[in-house]
Amino acid sequence: MIWGKDWRDSVWEQLGTERDIIVIGGGITGAGILREAARAGLRVLLVEARDFAWGTSSRSSKLVHGGLRYLAQGKLRLTLESVREREHLLEDGPGLIDPLGFLLATHKGDRPGRWTYKAGLSLYDLMALQWTHRRYRPEDFRMLAPRITPDRLEGGFRYGDAQTDDARLVLRLIREAVADGGLAINYVAAIGLIREDGAVRGVRLRDAVTGREAEARARVVINATGAWADHLRAQVGGEARIRPLRGSHLIIPAWRLPLAQAVSFLHPIDHRPVFLFPWEGATLVGTTDLDHDAPLDEEPRISPEEVAYLMAAIQHQFPACNITLDDVIATFAGVRPVIGTGKDDPSKESREHVVWQEDGLLTVTGGKLTTFRLIALDALRAVRDRLPELADLSADHPVLAAIDVDLPGAENLPPATRRRLLGRYGADAPALAAAAEPGELEPIPGTRTLWAELRWAARAEGVVHLDDLLLRRVRLGLLLPEGGVGQMARIRAICQPELGWDDARWESEEAAYRALWRAAYSLPERALIPDWQTLLLDARAARLARPYSFRRPLFLLAGLTALALLSRWRRRVGRDSAVV
Ligand SMILES: Cc1cc2nc3c(=O)[nH]c(=O)nc-3n(C[C@H](O)[C@H](O)[C@H](O)COP(=O)(O)OP(=O)(O)OC[C@H]3O[C@@H](n4cnc5c(N)ncnc54)[C@H](O)[C@@H]3O)c2cc1C
Repeated sequence: MIWGKDWRDSVWEQLGTERDIIVIGGGITGAGILREAARAGLRVLLVEARDFAWGTSSRSSKLVHGGLRYLAQGKLRLTLESVREREHLLEDGPGLIDPLGFLLATHKGDRPGRWTYKAGLSLYDLMALQWTHRRYRPEDFRMLAPRITPDRLEGGFRYGDAQTDDARLVLRLIREAVADGGLAINYVAAIGLIREDGAVRGVRLRDAVTGREAEARARVVINATGAWADHLRAQVGGEARIRPLRGSHLIIPAWRLPLAQAVSFLHPIDHRPVFLFPWEGATLVGTTDLDHDAPLDEEPRISPEEVAYLMAAIQHQFPACNITLDDVIATFAGVRPVIGTGKDDPSKESREHVVWQEDGLLTVTGGKLTTFRLIALDALRAVRDRLPELADLSADHPVLAAIDVDLPGAENLPPATRRRLLGRYGADAPALAAAAEPGELEPIPGTRTLWAELRWAARAEGVVHLDDLLLRRVRLGLLLPEGGVGQMARIRAICQPELGWDDARWESEEAAYRALWRAAYSLPERALIPDWQTLLLDARAARLARPYSFRRPLFLLAGLTALALLSRWRRRVGRDSAVV
């Protein structure tokens, strides 16, 4: 499916037709609703003010997971739904959603301790109806994570979770929905709501590329603008409810900090779980959880204090690697759309989604990337009274369309690369392979991205600006030093003709991209970054002075329940097999 040079004009011309649903916001929430609405046969339009996945949905930790942390907080339903969705996504989207082993290091004196983890992981596995976790002694654990510090290491656990490319997941959903008759356009903002008889009946739209404006009407208008949700809600008198919380990451080259699977541990400073994991051939380190006070329309960026916090985490667990700021290839920060309840500790705010109806405007926000389909179905169920023809909304169908296609000319590609293309590009993968020029089915040095992916994205995936291409269609801006400047000559040779840009346009796009990368994806000024060695020494002194306290009663209770259920289940299986 090609979104060629005129695709935005052609979508714009169709805005006048009344729809069943207009979805505002092209992150995972909006994309999931578009997908499910199109699947249900509704006439649905999605508008995104910037690029698809420009908001939080390209800046997440990229985990498709239940979240042990949420289990520890007693969020059993959220964890249960998330692990079940993880299993569906793993089944339906290989190459886009892939298994990721997690190593959980435990140390002498850690609270919670080994038995609490054992209990929690048993429940986590039971929720997914599987048994993946296992405990390792310190010497075996160090075989799995060879560079981890032996200091106080008591061993640890391994369990199964999953990871994805968040921006590509959004795009795959949108492209599947469009193939099913949905309509989507980027760089078109909802600038106002149209109200008739007191109820919202449509939106006023502005195209950020041309400046043109239009009105679009629908029986239902859904506000899926994530951290921005309060802006539209204010127009129907909604009181502000979102507490934007920033989370940031560092990216380190895999050769400096090689990991075969994720390693998670409690941060020595505040005892929050943090992790390092392999992603797209690099090592990703995350994350933080802080109130985000900067204006939402500016690209979020990591603060000097967050850099020190994440460097302290690396130094604490991997001191032998001697990671310095010179090793950081890139950084990125995202803003969680969390519903604020005034908790002192941001990490204690719920990550569950909410659905609000206000004067006919349906707002759906909060939640996680992992549970996008359940969020979408909840949103559609909430508007059923206005769309009585809406078919039965069950979650029984595959989340992503089955892909059973050949890749022409790509027969000799390694199986992992074929899987990657099929997962990330879905039904478009054969066209991508067919479009490749000689040598373009090779990876770009230092990454797993093929040159052919760049050509295809520039030709057919709705790129409006260079950062759409390099930060979201492919992730070179996160994976190559200086955002990929060293490869820019070849990127330009492939992409400029496909995009139809003249030299002046390319040069201004490249200058804007470099400025954006420096402002939001690089390290802050080094002189401002606190010394993390001192932070670690202070944390160690505080740990030695701290009296023992049991901090996770819910986690333990949940775990004991799991163990009880497990032993009942084992007894039952034993009885059944004895009968057979
Ligand atoms: C640091 C961090 C790590 C995370 N890690 C994970 C993880 O590992 N796994 C997981 O499951 N979840 C994770 N999450 C949560 C998950 O990323 C978010 O819940 C999810 O991406 C939110 O998606 P969304 O579509 O609601 O919002 P967004 O992705 O922000 O999309 C909203 C979109 O609306 C657009 N918009 C705003 N106003 C308008 C308007 N007026 N008109 C048109 N468009 C508009 C914005 O440009 C934006 O693109 C993480 C979040 C953060 C911040």
